[in-house]
Amino acid sequence: MSANDYDGVIRRDPRTEWIARNRLHPQHADVVAPAAETRGPSGLIRKNPHAVGFIGPNGLKRIDRLAGNGPQAGGARRGAKAAAEVELPLVTVDNPDFYIVAVMDLVGGRLSGHDKDVLGQAHKLVKDTEGEGAVVAVVFGESKEEAYDKAGVDRLIHIEGEAYEGYSPEQRVAALQAVDAMLEPRYWLFPDSINGGNELGSRLAAKLGERPATQAWQVDVANAVCRGGSERTDITRETPRLLLLAEECADPIDETRHAAQPIVLEAIPSAIVRIEDKGQVAVDPNQIPLGEAEFILSAGNGIHDWDQFHMAAEVLGATEGASRVAVDDGFMPRFRQVGATGTWVTARVYIAVGISGAVQHLQGIGQCDKVIAINTDVGCDMIKRADLSVIGDSQEILDELMKLVEQHRQGGAENAA
Ligand SMILES: Cc1cc2nc3c(=O)[nH]c(=O)nc-3n(C[C@H](O)[C@H](O)[C@H](O)COP(=O)(O)OP(=O)(O)OC[C@H]3O[C@@H](n4cnc5c(N)ncnc54)[C@H](O)[C@@H]3O)c2cc1C
Repeated sequence: MSANDYDGVIRRDPRTEWIARNRLHPQHADVVAPAAETRGPSGLIRKNPHAVGFIGPNGLKRIDRLAGNGPQAGGARRGAKAAAEVELPLVTVDNPDFYIVAVMDLVGGRLSGHDKDVLGQAHKLVKDTEGEGAVVAVVFGESKEEAYDKAGVDRLIHIEGEAYEGYSPEQRVAALQAVDAMLEPRYWLFPDSINGGNELGSRLAAKLGERPATQAWQVDVANAVCRGGSERTDITRETPRLLLLAEECADPIDETRHAAQPIVLEAIPSAIVRIEDKGQVAVDPNQIPLGEAEFILSAGNGIHDWDQFHMAAEVLGATEGASRVAVDDGFMPRFRQVGATGTWVTARVYIAVGISGAVQHLQGIGQCDKVIAINTDVGCDMIKRADLSVIGDSQEILDELMKLVEQHRQGGAENAA
């Protein structure tokens, strides 16, 4: 309702009041709608779910789930969403009373979903512990990560150098012992994963003579609940200083920004090295169990040339997956089915080719880090779920993709750009 009190008198605006009463007036929504986003007292942006969407021409409320990215928008990728990105409030810890150190897997040089869960758990423990604590992330080798601040890192120890490249647990543990001596962390947290976290955590525990909690999934300062007995039982024990954490142990940080201030380790004692890294061995991606595959190319009813699909998977070095329709139609074996009644996959990259994104399929890819959809239908649910979408015919796109991979292998990245 319009009111003007510049001279101390409240003035009514009959026209605005009339528009507010008239639900069919084209300006009705502008007059009565509460703001879709407001900044709360803590500085965080709050969304009002009732204010999302717009009234369509037939008077029904519509929600644009493509964020202005439908065909009528000329294909501008997630423009509205990106524009709406807001700067999160910065949290700084200048003089911490204690440290919690989280050692990251940093698979492929980037924080994994599991790493982010561990950082979320670190902040939970900081909150529950008396005094002001800082979360320190330790990363080894090449880092391509640009968002340590948004993942909840207050301090960052980045340890690089030839000695820490590849499989080098002995040198890494020596570095962690130096961190232990320097910061005397209240807790040590590791992702309990096959990507290094489990081994480093176990080795450090042995060196420090401490007993770690493994597969811990519910942790507070008093107790840690750990999965045991081949995941069939839960064991509750007092929370130790060293924790190997299961995936989804805590929610990742997403509402605050942190300083990610670097800490330099002055001297790392050299370790006696008995393990030599002879490099990686090529494996057939289709021999990797689907549930453990890192990179999956998955086929649905939108695949019309199956020979080409198998060739594309081979060229990309991806493990093959499939929708139930592709399996039921006899194009793929049953053990390749992804979804509620197939395998639940945890790939870092999942490419869904010609898969519509039925809820049963989406359930099976809930844990995947990055989903890429190739589909002709811009409105399908797989495209809504995907982090990157390619709209077009699967055959043409797989063809182009294979050409780019070949070019890349022959002439370097610049040729394939
Ligand atoms: C109890 C129950 C359990 C189920 N469990 C599972 C399960 O575990 N896993 C599972 O996957 N499904 C499961 N389903 C089936 C599921 O509901 C869907 O029917 C199925 O996932 C659809 O498979 P699809 O996306 O390949 O096929 P469709 O739904 O037919 O979609 C094909 C897609 O391909 C696209 N397309 C067509 N032509 C092209 C082209 N030339 N280029 C690019 N894209 C193209 C279309 O736009 C469409 O999006 C289950 C169903 C039930 C009832």
